[in-house]
Amino acid sequence: MVKKKEEDDEPIDVKAIKDIADLPGIGKTTADKLKAAGMMDIMAVAVASPDILIDLTDMTKPTALKAIHAARLAIQIGFRTGEDFLKDRESTLKINTGSKALNELLGGGVETKAITEAFGEFGSGKSQLGFQLAVNVQTPVDKGGLGGQVVFIDTEGTFRPERIVQLAKAAGVDPIEVLRNIKVARAFSSDHQMLMIDKVDEAIRKDNLNVKLIIIDSLTSLFRSEFAGRGTLADRQQKLNKHLHTMQRLADTHNLAIFVTNQVMANPAIFFGNPTQPIGGHIVGHASTYRLYLRKSKGEKRIARLIDSPHLPEGEAVFKVTAEGIRDEE
Ligand code: ATP
Ligand code: MG
Repeated sequence: MVKKKEEDDEPIDVKAIKDIADLPGIGKTTADKLKAAGMMDIMAVAVASPDILIDLTDMTKPTALKAIHAARLAIQIGFRTGEDFLKDRESTLKINTGSKALNELLGGGVETKAITEAFGEFGSGKSQLGFQLAVNVQTPVDKGGLGGQVVFIDTEGTFRPERIVQLAKAAGVDPIEVLRNIKVARAFSSDHQMLMIDKVDEAIRKDNLNVKLIIIDSLTSLFRSEFAGRGTLADRQQKLNKHLHTMQRLADTHNLAIFVTNQVMANPAIFFGNPTQPIGGHIVGHASTYRLYLRKSKGEKRIARLIDSPHLPEGEAVFKVTAEGIRDEE
């Protein structure tokens, strides 16, 4: 079964190397010995010294060198170039927020393949921005939309179809059609919320949906109320982290945008500056690509501040929440 290869073998077919048992000079028995010693994958062999391989398996030095060489060639397939990443970035799409100023702050709008988080106190416009995006994503590309559908996970019972109707009419699109394209689900616990996100991928594939936006309003409220005691904070953060990673995977797989809202809590440790902090702290902060801090100003006026963006300057935009929806200040 195990084919011993000669030292001056033909060129190595790196594409055929999927497991350490596929490396030249390493058959199943040797591979099992390596795995039993914790050397589980090709990467582990690629970074090993020949002496370690010899110790673990009694193979000859030339065989060890050859296996390491082949492993190093094989793992190079996994690298992506900067150009690949640029192409990936160029395939991202943007959803019009309704305000040019807010679009500009976000580098053109709410981006696909990314998680955008809006945090701020009650009435700051987090849900309103979500509703507006749910309408705007459905409009054609030349109107700033993506002609796509929406999954809306409502954790607070604040989804308002009549508000969607109002926004759709103002945007000049058929309100009933718009409502049909928003799949709303109410989540009652953090586990329920996580399960829904786990199932979105399956739903998209099964029903052949063209989901371009997933909204969770709010991301943290259920987590916050369930994990009230400090003792379970690490637990909560771990679950949130997993949840956010599932979302990012969905966003990448389907080239869709994720918009989540988050409340703020008073941080008594801060005496100067802004005493409010988003819930979920660093976990949510690291996982979301764009963080918008929304705050109320006079009347309809709201101020958005972009925080910690990987490639956009920090800055602020002023917009309004009107009966027609999110708009620019005149
Ligand atoms: P919370 O933390 O309580 O969920 P939020 O940030 O989600 O708060 P929103 O519901 O987005 O708050 O904003 C509510 C505000 O939006 C209202 O106070 C009002 O100023 C504005 N608003 C909501 N509906 C309308 C409407 N039909 N016409 C005009 N303004 C509206
Ligand atoms: Mg809200």
